[in-house]
Amino acid sequence: MGQYRYRVVITDCDHGSIEEEKEEFDRMDTELILAQVQEEKDLTRACREADGLLNQYALLTRRVLENLPKCKAVSRYGVGVDSVDLRAATDLGMIVANVPDYCIDEVANQTLSMILALIRKMAFFDQKVKSGHWDFRLGIPIYRTKGKTLGLIGCGKIGLEVAKRISSFDVKVIAFDPYIEKAPGGIELKDFDTVLKESDFIAIHCPLNDSTHHLIGEREFGKMEKKPLLINTSRGPIIDEKALIQALEQGLIAGAGLDVLEKEPPDSKNPLLKMENVILSPHIGFYSEESISELKRRTARNVSNVLLGKWPSSVVNREVKGKTRASISG
Ligand code: NAD
Repeated sequence: MGQYRYRVVITDCDHGSIEEEKEEFDRMDTELILAQVQEEKDLTRACREADGLLNQYALLTRRVLENLPKCKAVSRYGVGVDSVDLRAATDLGMIVANVPDYCIDEVANQTLSMILALIRKMAFFDQKVKSGHWDFRLGIPIYRTKGKTLGLIGCGKIGLEVAKRISSFDVKVIAFDPYIEKAPGGIELKDFDTVLKESDFIAIHCPLNDSTHHLIGEREFGKMEKKPLLINTSRGPIIDEKALIQALEQGLIAGAGLDVLEKEPPDSKNPLLKMENVILSPHIGFYSEESISELKRRTARNVSNVLLGKWPSSVVNREVKGKTRASISG
């Protein structure tokens, strides 16, 4: 440890450089160590003297955490904190923090790009022109966006950004979200079936959990009266993929834009890979150079805040308040 006041260990990460993290800790007399370990015994050894941890996938089990006598904070790169035993961290007085909103713009843009690309049949025409077919009639019919209705399933941070963007196309926005009472900016909240019935485009922006698993299935496709375009940039299992494939084959919906699938990557025989009215991307909604840089900086800032006696911007285990190992003001 020697000359440094603090030691922070990055358990593991899959990004190429840790420049942002270094910058963050350079200003506060901290030794930053990139361990790149996954096994319990390696984690325990590498993190034993750490005052704080940055973590991506390595499992921080109770056994690991119990062997880190100085650790005051664990900050996870990203939203989910499945890799950390939250109850153990709380029992031990460690603050667990995450970065829930580093890629709102990126995911909203992914949804909007998919809607526009499907409406204008961009991927379809690109393939046609490149294979020698210069004929707009191959893509008939195409409809204008003005006057259409977008239905959001989930009207949180990303849904709202999608709504903001698409309103400049004169598209009406309606939403189903059972956990909010009002939505801003002219978004009308409706019940689930009404959103399915009235939407020309449906965009999924709710989280995946027990109540949203297969939220869109055979029954729901049957309710989509306008043969909408369906966009999913949230999580694959929210849509029952078998029912989706059937709906596309039967023409119940006009097309789909999918950044996420039930199985990622998909099997090579997945029929979605062959459909001309389906656009796929490999779960890249979160990504831009700027979003990753922001993620790294803010993951590090969560820990540096704790070491400086402040709460991180996003605490996952709020129950830890009153028994933190770090002395935190406020
Ligand atoms: P958020 O928490 O701000 O919003 C989610 C909204 O969904 C909330 O308003 C909530 O009330 C609502 N909701 C919850 N259960 C619902 C249900 N059963 N039906 C309808 N609405 C429901 O989250 P966000 O930041 O907008 O992110 C939304 C999702 O986007 C995340 O859960 C994540 O799965 C996904 N995501 C994907 C990527 C990607 O790379 N493709 C990146 C980041 C996030």
